Amino acid sequence: MFCVECGKEIEEDFDGMCIECYIKSRKFFEIPGTIEITVCRNCGSHKLESKWIEGSMEDALKNFLEGSIKHRGVKKFRVKMEGSRIICTGEFHEHPVYEEREVEIKTRYSICEKCSRMKGGYFEAILQVRKDGTNMTDEEIKLSDEVVYKKAGHGGYVTKREKKHGGIDYYMGDKKMAASAARILSDMFHGETSISPSLVGMKDGREMYRNTYVVRIPEYAKGGYVEVGGRVFRVFDMGKRIGMRDIETGEKKYFSRNEMSKVKVIGAEEMEAIVLSSREKEVQILDPENYKTVVISKPEDMEVGEKVRILKWKDRIYLTGG
Ligand SMILES: [Zn+2]
Ligand SMILES: [Zn+2]
Repeated sequence: MFCVECGKEIEEDFDGMCIECYIKSRKFFEIPGTIEITVCRNCGSHKLESKWIEGSMEDALKNFLEGSIKHRGVKKFRVKMEGSRIICTGEFHEHPVYEEREVEIKTRYSICEKCSRMKGGYFEAILQVRKDGTNMTDEEIKLSDEVVYKKAGHGGYVTKREKKHGGIDYYMGDKKMAASAARILSDMFHGETSISPSLVGMKDGREMYRNTYVVRIPEYAKGGYVEVGGRVFRVFDMGKRIGMRDIETGEKKYFSRNEMSKVKVIGAEEMEAIVLSSREKEVQILDPENYKTVVISKPEDMEVGEKVRILKWKDRIYLTGG
């Protein structure tokens, strides 16, 4: 059998042609001549057909072309853009196939759904971060903001942020992002999360819920001090069980989170004090607040004039050694 185009003898017949002539005579890809892109004026997202895609126009186009160009019998289909040309490659019966076409890109400007919802103040969830019994520290607020705004960047947004007693409220445009931020914050701060949905109305015959996520951060923290059974402990482990060390005897205790409710968190801060005199079993130190001399038992060698860390709690002074 011979190819009807070039007359070459053929083993496998493609519509009467050899594979080379067949490939030359056929179109394998349906490459569009024009593409319409809508760009969000506010965030720069791109819409091709009906879907808004975040990121650069190049990525959006590539994504769109990969999903929308039809090809027949082609394996290893690839598409790329070079300037205003779309280039498609692949293999047909293990022979390379290639097609390219100039494309006209029509750009329009509009505002994406996410931005229009955000501008309208719409939100799906409130994420409340709260510290038990006290206010969040500046460091905790900073970490919390970082997590929430990072999550919000992935398709969500924060429409409002409010400082509240004991913490912060974030009004978020996306429930899933709020849930995921709550999970991360909960792990990070060894806290607990609760969710409460509230019905806010109907949409297309379906009930619409808004979720409130509350992340409770425990008052105790790693490196902080707590009182258990009249003794002072320093928290050194915030794992599954909370590890605490008696700052006088070194004795360790491990409590579950539930058991931690029996613990009193010591709000006092460590201070620096100076050793005035040192004897065999005790030292005299100067209370930095009232300049009184206090005698305490000596846990280790200390020299006169040395600075030590102390904690004042219930009229007693503890050496913290920290
Ligand atoms: Zn041929
Ligand atoms: Zn936008």
